[in-house]
Amino acid sequence: MNAAGSAASDDAGDVAPTKELLRVKDLVKYFPIKRGLLSRAVERVHAVDGVSFTIGPGETLGLVGESGCGKSTTGRCILRLIEPTSGEVWFAGKSVTALSGRELRALCRDMQIIFQDPYASLNPRLPVGAIVGEALIIHNLTKSGREFEERVVELLETVGLNADHMRRYPHEFSGGQRQRIGIARALAVSPKLIVCDEPVSALDVSIQAQVINLLEDLQQQFGLSYLFIAHDLSVVEHISTRVAVMYLGRIVETAAAEDLYNAPLHPYTQALLSAVPIPDPAAKRGRIMLQGDVPNPIHPPSGCHFHTRCPKAMAHCAVKTPIAKEMAPGHVVACHLY
Ligand code: SF4
Repeated sequence: MNAAGSAASDDAGDVAPTKELLRVKDLVKYFPIKRGLLSRAVERVHAVDGVSFTIGPGETLGLVGESGCGKSTTGRCILRLIEPTSGEVWFAGKSVTALSGRELRALCRDMQIIFQDPYASLNPRLPVGAIVGEALIIHNLTKSGREFEERVVELLETVGLNADHMRRYPHEFSGGQRQRIGIARALAVSPKLIVCDEPVSALDVSIQAQVINLLEDLQQQFGLSYLFIAHDLSVVEHISTRVAVMYLGRIVETAAAEDLYNAPLHPYTQALLSAVPIPDPAAKRGRIMLQGDVPNPIHPPSGCHFHTRCPKAMAHCAVKTPIAKEMAPGHVVACHLY
């Protein structure tokens, strides 16, 4: 850290909480685009472009950005559902990226995922009991049919469903109930970390709050950590301990939730926040309208990826990639204005 209380690092997310459960370091994921008879990789999508962050026990990191910015790919790379191109992921002191086979499966038991679309993520041909209990069988966690059934009922009750729901099929449930089933399935193996990949985006606003409240209750009850992915800052406001804002594969700002909402530093964060409605009608926040769409991640803009839409862009922003600086304890921003 320099005299001004700022530290330079290669990513705006690389500030550790006191004790870390998850560490992601310089994570990169490029998807090759293959063309021609020989299916040669001619171009690549820069989905995740050097992302670093940490999550402590019992902490929620909100990961926010527009569609296509790489946040879901980041979540999937952490769980090795997608193989990262490079970078490291450490969980509870063990390297997730270096392990394979049985060791990786054992480690990944502690890390689960809840998907965005509760309609698509549940097998429509299986009754709910079989969906929720599948991991109990895979990991041999119950010793008898009776114990299996008791555990499944316990999981359903934990998420606000009941034993009667066990023999029903996903299509018999509402969107919110289906997401509860997805949460019960994730809880079956008693994980320490859950990647919540836009878990409320497909739900009605009235149901969103119920699911977020449930996730908060479960966090208290089981000491869970969350990586909570969302495209909207308002969704993660109440559940997040810290928030990381992502743009075109890079984290541009990370801060404690309160600091980020009260004093956002990066022009992109400021624009996202200006779109969040304020409950107090007397309070006013000027809306910052961003020009254009998120650029194509096959050819991301040079220098600061945001320069093509940034209302404060300067000439050198198109040339030089901004280095992340810690402007206050835990508040890190990657922008040439600082
Ligand atoms: Fe805007 Fe320049 Fe800061 Fe990028 S580096 S956010 S273009 S001011």
